[in-house]
Amino acid sequence: MKSLTRPVLIGDGIVGVSTRHHLTQEGWSEVVLAECDELTSGIAWHSAAQVTNFATNQTMAGLESLSIRPCKKLAEDPDNPINDHFGDGGIRLAITEAQMRGHRHFASMASAMDVHFEAIDAEECARRHSLIFIKSLMGGLRGPREGGLDPAQLCLAFARRARGASAEVNRNMPDLGLTRNADDSWSVHAERSDTDCDVVVNACGNRVNDVAIRNA
Ligand SMILES: Cc1cc2nc3c(=O)[nH]c(=O)nc-3n(C[C@H](O)[C@H](O)[C@H](O)COP(=O)(O)OP(=O)(O)OC[C@H]3O[C@@H](n4cnc5c(N)ncnc54)[C@H](O)[C@@H]3O)c2cc1C
Repeated sequence: MKSLTRPVLIGDGIVGVSTRHHLTQEGWSEVVLAECDELTSGIAWHSAAQVTNFATNQTMAGLESLSIRPCKKLAEDPDNPINDHFGDGGIRLAITEAQMRGHRHFASMASAMDVHFEAIDAEECARRHSLIFIKSLMGGLRGPREGGLDPAQLCLAFARRARGASAEVNRNMPDLGLTRNADDSWSVHAERSDTDCDVVVNACGNRVNDVAIRNA
């Protein structure tokens, strides 16, 4: 690894690769990635990868809608094909009036963030999806931008872009160690070299707490 850099990202799942891509887009050229195994060898590889902008509050609905944009842009790139179903739409069903009220509330709340959802009746649910039976169904909440994609292909597409922007990638690096220095900078210790940096991004998925605690 380089001996001196700005951020070291640890973990090459969707969080690591998209952070790497976005930092290089922001002009950070000295980005180093360290992964204990291979690209997308963590949770991102076997995720169901439904893409939603449904959330429990307005801010998250807005943020999730923004996060769909770069994925869609990458999916449209003929050099980085991604199997996707953007915009197929999703429906959350409601079998009680209280659930329908919740759906109407969300649709109204989301519209303030320019995020479109609509509360639809049972007949419209069945018209939209042939496997929906309307017996006992009050209706549903339809999100027209929801869909899904192949998570491993998305990771690859982000990784290719960041590689094009000259981020340094180090894979198969188990047993990374971290030391926080007196001036608040970090030293990242690998088997054969050490790297000093200002910022460490811990993107280790479900290992994130282990890595943080081990190096606290
Ligand atoms: C069955 C299932 C279905 C899901 N469905 C959806 C869905 O439909 N929609 C959705 O949005 N989300 C879904 N998720 C959640 C989503 O997949 C995860 O939130 C996301 O993939 C996490 O990405 P990550 O980059 O944080 O972690 P990971 O993909 O796990 O990446 C972490 C990386 O860090 C590396 N690493 C770990 N420890 C170290 C270490 N000490 N040193 C160096 N590297 C290390 C790992 O090898 C790995 O490559 C689902 C998850 C599961 C399990």
